[in-house]
Amino acid sequence: MSGSPLAARLAAVRNQVADAAREAGRDPDGITTIVVTKFQPVSLIRELAELGVRDVGENRHQEAQAKARELESLGLRWHFVGQLQRKKARQVRAYASGIHSVDRVELVDVLASDEASVDCFVQVNLTDDPGRGGATGDDVLRVAEAAQAAPGLRLRGLMAVAPLGEEPGAAFDRVREMSERVVADVAPGASDLSIGMSGDFREAVHAGATHLRIGTAITGNRPAPA
Ligand SMILES: *Cc1c(COP(=O)(O)O)cnc(C)c1O
Repeated sequence: MSGSPLAARLAAVRNQVADAAREAGRDPDGITTIVVTKFQPVSLIRELAELGVRDVGENRHQEAQAKARELESLGLRWHFVGQLQRKKARQVRAYASGIHSVDRVELVDVLASDEASVDCFVQVNLTDDPGRGGATGDDVLRVAEAAQAAPGLRLRGLMAVAPLGEEPGAAFDRVREMSERVVADVAPGASDLSIGMSGDFREAVHAGATHLRIGTAITGNRPAPA
């Protein structure tokens, strides 16, 4: 198993994350790598679990729910990273340990609960396209405020995807500025940053990422969506 291409890619990414952390003067243990397994078969997720992966990410509710059910005995932490529909939000809560795409107060209202807390991140949209998901401007603070006040949600910080056509380090610096405002004005403990994907995780580590969401650099190419 340890000789498989998947094992080799996972080991290479882990080394690169650790190297980037050291370069940035950070402790690699402060960085959680979430392996994004969207469109990948459960067999691949089982192999990842055997290789020691504990955190996996998915972006579509039905697929995530089915995989989480089938693989329940593995004790993985499921992170939901895709756009979240209001009517699906409570169902996502049931299997997710982290929801990275909370981008409007309406979702916070649906996710609030007396049940055990779920970690959440307020997603920031760094593009000019409102269809991309994520809050912008002062709405980031409003959503964070709602999440901070809601029972059953533990606000961890902000999440973002670096836009095409912008240097990722510059994009991540914009997220960090917003994060500093959230921490100063709304939620002192919510300083985590879910930033960095296959193409830009090194820049994200330098910018202070606490959670990386890495797909293809570890899994290889994704099969076409079902
Ligand atoms: C697919 C996806 C990722 C992983 O992307 P890769 O480029 O394969 O690393 C990370 N974050 C989100 C929100 C995604 O949808």
